[in-house]
Amino acid sequence: MRIRYCWRCKMEVPMLEGEESIIASKLYSEGFKTLEKDRQKRFKKLLDYYNDLTGFGETEPNAIIHHFADMYGPDCENCGKPYRTDKAKYCASCGNKRKMKKLFLDDVRTIEMIYDKSMESEFDIVQTYEEFVGYIKENGLPNYISFDNDLGLNKNGIVALDGLACAKWLVYESGLDLRNLEFKVHSANPVASEQIKGLLNNYIKHLKTTE
Ligand SMILES: [Zn+2]
Ligand SMILES: [Zn+2]
Repeated sequence: MRIRYCWRCKMEVPMLEGEESIIASKLYSEGFKTLEKDRQKRFKKLLDYYNDLTGFGETEPNAIIHHFADMYGPDCENCGKPYRTDKAKYCASCGNKRKMKKLFLDDVRTIEMIYDKSMESEFDIVQTYEEFVGYIKENGLPNYISFDNDLGLNKNGIVALDGLACAKWLVYESGLDLRNLEFKVHSANPVASEQIKGLLNNYIKHLKTTE
């Protein structure tokens, strides 16, 4: 549970997170299956669950259903209210332009070799697997990643862990929610490009269908 500002209620409310949202959704659909006419009684289990957890005293079942923390974007860096959606580019409250974090993985190329020169300032650059993992552990998942695959030799003179290894780390080890990740593979290696795209697209699709 986390206190967040709700755009519909226009106030701060306790919002459910992760497992809590799953339990609440289940109790909500159970409510629909009961024959009870009175809404308070019908959704009693849901209301009790939410109120026990939050101490809020909610009486409207439908309000709980839009108080799931991950229905909204992250908090605005300027005013602290949530962006209305994960993809929102501006804060609806203060008009702050959201900083979209973009990461460029490549050992030799520069941003302007792949994107327009004007986009240079939007990207952070990492050149190795180790830098890639370190960056994300420190800064969280960027909104966008541009992948190279072949990253040359490491400092011991052997072939360095590649872009595919970075993608595998994201999927199998990072524990991050990749549903909203956008990416491009700019590598010139066609086989590895397909592998990176296949791995990430399949995983993201899997996350979206098991929501
Ligand atoms: Zn609300
Ligand atoms: Zn704001």
